[in-house]
Amino acid sequence: MSVDRHTVWPFVDGEPGQYSYVREAHPTGAEAERKLGELEGGRALLFSSGMAAATSILLALMQPGQTVALAEGGYFGMEILMRDVLGPWGLKTLLFDQTGPPPDEADLVWVEAPSNPFLTMPDLAAAAAHPAKVVVDSTVSTPVFLNPLAEGADLVLHSATKYLTGHSDAMAGAVVCKDEADYDRLFHFRHVAGPICSADTAALVTRGLKTLRVRVERQSATAAELAERLRAHPAVQTVRYPGFGGLLSFDVAGDPIPVETATRLIKNATSLGGVDSSMESRHRWEGDRCPVGLLRLSVGLEDAGELWADLEQALPSA
Ligand SMILES: *Cc1c(COP(=O)(O)O)cnc(C)c1O
Repeated sequence: MSVDRHTVWPFVDGEPGQYSYVREAHPTGAEAERKLGELEGGRALLFSSGMAAATSILLALMQPGQTVALAEGGYFGMEILMRDVLGPWGLKTLLFDQTGPPPDEADLVWVEAPSNPFLTMPDLAAAAAHPAKVVVDSTVSTPVFLNPLAEGADLVLHSATKYLTGHSDAMAGAVVCKDEADYDRLFHFRHVAGPICSADTAALVTRGLKTLRVRVERQSATAAELAERLRAHPAVQTVRYPGFGGLLSFDVAGDPIPVETATRLIKNATSLGGVDSSMESRHRWEGDRCPVGLLRLSVGLEDAGELWADLEQALPSA
């Protein structure tokens, strides 16, 4: 794996060649974009984070006064970005239940497959039937379990910080476009505004994609087993698991903090999608919209029996 860290490339016969200045594009990024584009069936662009990718979609493709219909119960930061940060710039945000059709007023439909941390799946057929363009945040599904462009979406968003790089050691985002025109507008926006990821990070995306399938298939098998065992445990009230993928959430009746601090193998940390399992209460970040007893568990590559033994010894602390 070679990383080309140049920030400039010489002109060719007095003219800029394919690469000239790093803020526009770089070959290490282009290689990762080709691979991700193949997996999703569209044209990919890398960004410095998932949120940089989301911000770029909104600023490059929307206009002041337009409305985004955002899936409720999705990634909490997305609601903050749209409502609190871009609201003053004229973006209107309407929350809706993504298991049904999006509201008529939407100029852009934004769903999450599955939502994090409530793990609902969007009705992609209903979203695709809406005249507005559809963005699917497919971070938790990964291209292994879902190809949103084939289901009628126009743009796919990934926080590559999660499963795509997969080792909790790189931050990146990606957008995969169906239409050339959307790709061109996002490419231009990224060039001018500068939220491209570094070559080193792009190389970690390429490396992560090589093992993506084996990682997430194993994480998914383990998560399915843990979801089943959690459902049968007397200290657990609700288990949310869409039937695939490495992410699940469940509610305990009492205080979740003694549970998350009692695990030994499972790290008490935020984020998801890494090879090490991690678990945290989401109420601390999300407040009232999240049940007090909700714990989100990101399943890593450890042995399923050892993970269950860890949960089983921690659950009585609730
Ligand atoms: C983490 C995450 C994001 C934001 O990505 P960053 O890389 O942290 O900026 C967006 N959507 C989902 C579903 C996420 O889990």
